[in-house]
Order: sequence, then structure tokens, then C-alpha cells
Amino acid sequence: IDAVDLLAVENLEVVYNDVALTLKGLSLRAGQGGITALLGANGAGKSTTLKAISGLLAGEDGAVTDGRIVFDGAPINHLPPERIVRLGVFQVMEGRRVFEDMSVEDNLRCGGVTRPAGEFKTGVERVYDYFPRLKERRQQLAGYMSGGEQQMLAIGRALIAKPRLLLLDEPSLGLAPLLVEEIFDIIRRINRDDGVTILLVEQNARAALGIADVGFIMENGRIVLDGTSAELLGNPDVQEFYLGLS
Ligand code: ATP
Repeated sequence: IDAVDLLAVENLEVVYNDVALTLKGLSLRAGQGGITALLGANGAGKSTTLKAISGLLAGEDGAVTDGRIVFDGAPINHLPPERIVRLGVFQVMEGRRVFEDMSVEDNLRCGGVTRPAGEFKTGVERVYDYFPRLKERRQQLAGYMSGGEQQMLAIGRALIAKPRLLLLDEPSLGLAPLLVEEIFDIIRRINRDDGVTILLVEQNARAALGIADVGFIMENGRIVLDGTSAELLGNPDVQEFYLGLS
């Protein structure tokens, strides 16, 4: 992993509805070309962190009230989401938000709105190469796809956007164990073969640390522990509270 940080979040404070202090001075980094895992229990603030990075807090009555988010050397926390996406930061939201009334291929087309039109053909071939299921079902309405297939579609749509930084919010949520393995394998390939830097939010700490280079553990709006995946997997507290070993 390259030592250069593509993303640096520094002492970030986020408030919802002017009252609820949800991020309380959170700092983390994502190394260029690496996979970084952000782990923590329900309600710790993981999704909030991703939405702050991609500029989507305003739509939920949230705001950054202190700290900075630096992408590729420049602060982005005052930019609107459409500018941030054009810089190459793309978020796959929790819960596979696909357009249910549109075909699989039209959903993929939506991922390419910030790309030159001529690129779609090669982009879509690449996605079908990763996810042959999507190719078989490309004319089907996305709403009729299974949960796992919709998750694949959400990731495929992000790939069409050719992001530099991909933010993934709980890609394993609600998937059967075999499919979790498949999705994580594909995330690893996207990172390795396409050179996409990844920040991965997960409750499945074991699966996440299995592919990540480094991890950050958050509790109650702050980072409480960070290290390489090997360090975290070997840490007795992590084993007890996040890996279910004791
Ligand atoms: P989960 O894994 O359950 O999604 P998380 O770590 O991603 O948890 P967040 O979704 O970031 O946690 O939520 C952190 C806290 O912020 C929670 O207490 C939540 O209730 C609160 N919160 C999240 N979104 C909003 C919102 N739009 N308005 C007010 N409070 C919110």
C-alpha cells in the first residue's frame, strides 16, 4: 500500500437537526490504492461519516460543524455532492438503492452520467465481466432482482462511474454467507485490478478485515482504535467485541 493518503478526515464534527452531536472529532485516512475498513457497532456513526465525505448530509438535516475532509490534497467539505462526485468520490448507500422501475442496464447507465458517453460500452462490459448475473438479466426491472443481485447492481453502477474513491456502506448486509464471500472477492478485484481506493463500512468485521489493509474502529462518534488488519485481528478487544471470540 502506498503511504500517500487519498482521503484524510480531520477532527470531524457532525450535528443533525442543530442538536444531535453525532461525530465528535473523528479522524481517519484512506491510503491511495488501498482498502480501508471502518468498523463499529450500530449507531456508532459509520454511515454518517460516509455521507459527510460524499456531501449527502445536508439532505438529512445534518451538517459538518467542525473539522475538515481533504480529498487528494484539497478540502471538499464545503462542496455540494455533485461536485464531489465529479472529483471521483462515489458512495454506494446502505440497502442497495437501485431504481426499481428501471432495467438493470438503465440503472448502470445512471452510473455513467459524469462520464463521456462513448465510455459506457466498455464500462458495462467490465461490470458484466465482474457480475455475469447482471448480464443475463440486463433487460429485467431492477425491482424484481434478489437482494444480492441488487447489491451487485449498486456496486456495478458505481464502477461505471470510474471512481477514484469508492465508499461502500455495508455491502454484506442481509446477504447469505456464500454471497458475502463473492461480494468481498469482487471488492478486492475492483481494488486490485481497477486501482480503485476503497473505504468500506461494515458490521461484518471479520470479512472486512479479511480484505482491508488497515482498519479504524469507531464508537460513539470517534475512532477508538486503528491499525493494520493483522494488528486488529490479533487484538484481544477486537476479538472479544467485534469478532465474537473470547
Ligand atoms: P448502522 O450500522 O446502524 O447504520 P452507523 O454506525 O452507520 O449505524 P449512523 O447511521 O451514522 O450509524 O447513525 C449515527 C447516529 O446518528 C445514530 O444515533 C442515528 O440515530 C443518528 N442519525 C443518523 N441519521 C440521522 C438523521 N438523518 N437525523 C438525525 N439523527 C440521525
